[in-house]
Amino acid sequence: MTTNVLDYLDASAARFPDKIAFGGEHSALTFTQLRDLSRRAGTYLTGRIGAGQPVAVFMEKTPACLAAFFAAVSAGCFYVPLDTKMPAERIKLIFDTLHPAFVFYDEKNAEAARAVAGDAGCALFAEACRTEPDEAALAAVRAAHVDTDLLYVLFTSGSTGVPKGVTISHRSMIDYADWLHDALDMNESCVIGNQAPFVFDNSTLDIYSTLKNGCTTWIIPKKCFSFHKTMVQFLREHGIDTIFFVPSALIAMANSGILAKDPPLGLKRVYFCGEVMPNRQLNMWRRAVPEAVYCNMYGPTEITDVCSYYIVDRDFDDDDPLPIGRACANTRILILNDENKPVSPGQTGELCVLGTCLSLGYYNNPAQTEKAFVQNPLNTVFHERMYRTGDLARYNDRGEIMFLGRKDFQIKHQGCYRIELGEIETALLAVSGVQNGCCLFDEAKDEIVCVYMGAEEEHELAKLLAVKLPSYMMPNRYVHLDRLPMTINDKIDRVTLKKQHIG
Ligand code: AMP
Repeated sequence: MTTNVLDYLDASAARFPDKIAFGGEHSALTFTQLRDLSRRAGTYLTGRIGAGQPVAVFMEKTPACLAAFFAAVSAGCFYVPLDTKMPAERIKLIFDTLHPAFVFYDEKNAEAARAVAGDAGCALFAEACRTEPDEAALAAVRAAHVDTDLLYVLFTSGSTGVPKGVTISHRSMIDYADWLHDALDMNESCVIGNQAPFVFDNSTLDIYSTLKNGCTTWIIPKKCFSFHKTMVQFLREHGIDTIFFVPSALIAMANSGILAKDPPLGLKRVYFCGEVMPNRQLNMWRRAVPEAVYCNMYGPTEITDVCSYYIVDRDFDDDDPLPIGRACANTRILILNDENKPVSPGQTGELCVLGTCLSLGYYNNPAQTEKAFVQNPLNTVFHERMYRTGDLARYNDRGEIMFLGRKDFQIKHQGCYRIELGEIETALLAVSGVQNGCCLFDEAKDEIVCVYMGAEEEHELAKLLAVKLPSYMMPNRYVHLDRLPMTINDKIDRVTLKKQHIG
């Protein structure tokens, strides 16, 4: 019975002691080394803090950073990755909620970490790794563990401006890793190329597939995402056959022309999640790397990364929307209308999720937890938690779920038209001269604002959209940019765009 993600690490270290688990540009750790460092620094922590405490990790995206995560877990604690580029002000907001018991840092971030640590103990991770493992102390912590204990807390941007800490338990992650193995063919032979920052839930696919199955993950250097020739070289050099990217990263590669010139033919699994993947660029990928399996996954951080998936199994036109498919195993999805009743096929409703994948709530934030994690309205007889995603969806004729956009991206235009901005975006991204873009709504002026990058002239773009969209869905204003601002997770940064172009 697997109850702790460290069971995966122990088993993989026994099966593949000398295989590289995680590699970066300048360092790599085998499974044995990863386990050893985790146990050493874990012992260091057991001497200082009790189990069940938050351990913040303020380190660069390296294999050592992952060892720090598992050190926290070895001490019966949970880890909280911090973005080292985050302004001190935001870290302070996080720490006000989290009250970390301990902070691990690396050489590069020593000064910044010490400045924010406050009352928390803190240590250079490499220093903590000098501790001799205390078998008895580690075994005692392990014996006291239950699978509903927290594994990590990821802070996402809260709409109130205060970041919310999404809690995820061992059980939820074990379920997810098992599903990835069973449904998506994540196995010991996989060589994964990691894009997602460790503060972003997408990274858990890479991390926990590696831990469970004994595969290898290579952290792809940031520069490869701007220089796609280097990206293809990197993928080839490391024998990477599996990637799980945000669509923006796949879109940028397709737009760069590299897929036609020098396709990364070694890829067997091209998986993506986090925002809409337009079929125009997906078709470029499918033509260039036809042997790969493509999978559109969907899910917010609150449900352990992914709750629905669609393995691409048929042809799509460039302007077709791509389904997000069906619920993952052991996961229930309900699409509920405004009266909290399940929608009929074709009708729009809010996508809600139930099951083991659910977060245990926002850390130290009962008010926000109560709002998002609610009683299943269809169950009046016992307590059953349901997560309201705030995303709109509907079923298509095949029973697949179609993502329509965020509830807050659903607008009321000209007093009567209810429009999903996502629908306009699907038409926008299908235009060949448009590289990437999105639509915003200026409520004060009742204007749809289309922001895009690419060679297409504004009036030409308007003409092309007019062929596809009813007049009331046509953007009222166009903003052409050389570059779109991106979030730390490499998704389009709509908050910044809204500030800059709507105010
Ligand atoms: P995050 O919690 O940062 O992972 O963001 C989750 C949100 O990203 C979801 O609630 C959706 O709005 C969006 N999202 C995730 N996956 C997809 C997808 N495959 N297609 C469209 N939007 C997605």
